[in-house]
Amino acid sequence: MNDPLVARMREFGTTIFAEMSALALRTGSINLGQGFPDTDGPAAMLERAASAIRDGFNQYPPGPGVPELRQAVSGHRKARYGLDYDPDGEVLVTVGATEAIAATILALCEPGDEVIAFEPYYDSYAASIALAGAVLRPVTLRPAGGRFAFDPAELRAAVGPRTRAILVNSPHNPTGTVFTRTELEEIALLCQERDLIAITDEVYEHLTFDGVEHIPLATLPGMRDRTVMISSAGKTFSVTGWKTGWVCAPSRLIRAVQTVKQFLTFTAAAPWQLAVAYGLSHELDWVARLQADLQAKRDRLTAGLAAAGFDVYRPAGTYFVQTDIRPLGFADGLAFSRELPSLAGVVAIPTQVFYAHPERGSHFVRFAFCKKDEVIDEAVSRLIRLGEATGTPA
Ligand code: PMP
Ligand code: GLN
Repeated sequence: MNDPLVARMREFGTTIFAEMSALALRTGSINLGQGFPDTDGPAAMLERAASAIRDGFNQYPPGPGVPELRQAVSGHRKARYGLDYDPDGEVLVTVGATEAIAATILALCEPGDEVIAFEPYYDSYAASIALAGAVLRPVTLRPAGGRFAFDPAELRAAVGPRTRAILVNSPHNPTGTVFTRTELEEIALLCQERDLIAITDEVYEHLTFDGVEHIPLATLPGMRDRTVMISSAGKTFSVTGWKTGWVCAPSRLIRAVQTVKQFLTFTAAAPWQLAVAYGLSHELDWVARLQADLQAKRDRLTAGLAAAGFDVYRPAGTYFVQTDIRPLGFADGLAFSRELPSLAGVVAIPTQVFYAHPERGSHFVRFAFCKKDEVIDEAVSRLIRLGEATGTPA
């Protein structure tokens, strides 16, 4: 029988996160693959969700989201970034950042339009672009000076007559790069010269380290009016299972995104929205502590991976660390990641699956450090044993 799946989705199969988390469960390995914390978000925020359910917030909320959350998002954008978004018309609540990204691309891209994204890229970008019948134009981030960066000339060359939008994810999953003001200025200039829409994925906006500042592209001159800014509660408050995100943009762009969003899900779940509104208004100190804790965990895991023999790219943000496996005597990250449970009892994510040019990332493997210290330590000691077994110095 023919594959019933539409042709444009056939290359996508099962996500790497599903595959690797299932592998971790099946083998009882430590899961440093899929990025989800193993501790809960702020207790009062969790209680707010429970009380919302008990208090009867269990029917459809308004399509754009509950007013409390739209107001909290607007207040947070203003206080943190000096950005003004009208809670009535410029803020849209979505089912996680994933729905926001899909709805934005489906709303703004005609079949054949091109969307630029920096590779390696979060896997839903390519799938959403394909669903829209649009075309992904990758621009590769390459190691330079201990971080991953793009070549401005390559970015410029990727823009053509059909380019509609550029997807900008900073802090960047999976490389941990936080774009500098200079890099963002390059992107902003290009957007204005070539009349492009910027779609910014800022789900790790709070998770930067060593005082590195996250700068939203929309704060650069001329950018607010052409930027669709996407965030999510999942990473900020360690509630990835709540799938509550939001879009901020000028009203004409929000209207377009909402037109699509209303037929994907109509609206997002009610209780989480009230709880996230509470979190944005009352729990930012908790988030600051999370950021500090994650910085220490980053140091813990990067030191351990280096001791095991990996080449380590120290991330400036997110909760992922990118490694090069070649010093351990391996070359193919996908094969390595599939073998790692039996070699060491650890699960990681092969970065090559996030590339349009997999050969450019074949030797990179991503590890997550949003885990308890003892979990990181146990994973590290297993990986050090692997490093010793493959002959690299511990
Ligand atoms: N973008 C990036 C870069 C991510 O890492 C993730 C995973 N959290 C998402 C989007 C999806 O976020 P959500 O779970 O809110 O849909
Ligand atoms: N964002 C998470 C990661 O990169 C996982 C998201 C997912 O499972 N789809 O690990």
